[in-house]
Amino acid sequence: MKVCEIFASIQGESTYSGLPCVFVRLTGCNLRCSYCDTRYAYDEAREMTGDEIVTEVISYSLRLVEITGGEPLLQNEVLTLISRLNDQGLSVLIETNGSINIADVDRRATIIMDVKTPGSSMSETLYAANFENLKRSDELKFVITSRADYEWAKDVVTKFVLHEKCTVHFSPAYSLIQPSDLSAWILQDKLSVRLNLQLHKYIYHPDRRGV
Ligand code: SF4
Repeated sequence: MKVCEIFASIQGESTYSGLPCVFVRLTGCNLRCSYCDTRYAYDEAREMTGDEIVTEVISYSLRLVEITGGEPLLQNEVLTLISRLNDQGLSVLIETNGSINIADVDRRATIIMDVKTPGSSMSETLYAANFENLKRSDELKFVITSRADYEWAKDVVTKFVLHEKCTVHFSPAYSLIQPSDLSAWILQDKLSVRLNLQLHKYIYHPDRRGV
């Protein structure tokens, strides 16, 4: 498999936020979001076997592992890797960009799916059929870059009744909108969504990689 980096950090963007976690960042992405902060993952790669990845993840002795990217579901071998990590008794999170079918992902894993808003310039890539395959334990994340993004996200949540399917996060795009503004809009509309801050951006320098 093509692996960009493996590292331990604090999980920062879900209900698992704050927990120590091993991150496996796979190489390659089919999208080009306007605010992407992991462009180095488009092509930086080292070849690793599934055995080598599992061994390295276990060496951290943490219970939580997140497979991210880039877009991790682009590599077919990731499906076997997810099952193998689950077999090890680990809690496995899959951070995916919402454009790839999740139907074949091991149901023991937790999907954390970005729903790309217009501000990302990638909202047309949404594979909406994924909403039918969500489990209660999965999570959706909308990164909000503007009031227009907020209105769009609110409409999508309402149209697909997403707040009744799983946890829905609205996350202010770092440095683009104020968390206080997004909080006020959510309260005003009484939305059943969670405000989610990118915790790692506050702990570490916002441009630092490997966190
Ligand atoms: S999906 Fe993620 S990695 Fe890919 S371009 Fe968008 S932000 Fe970057």
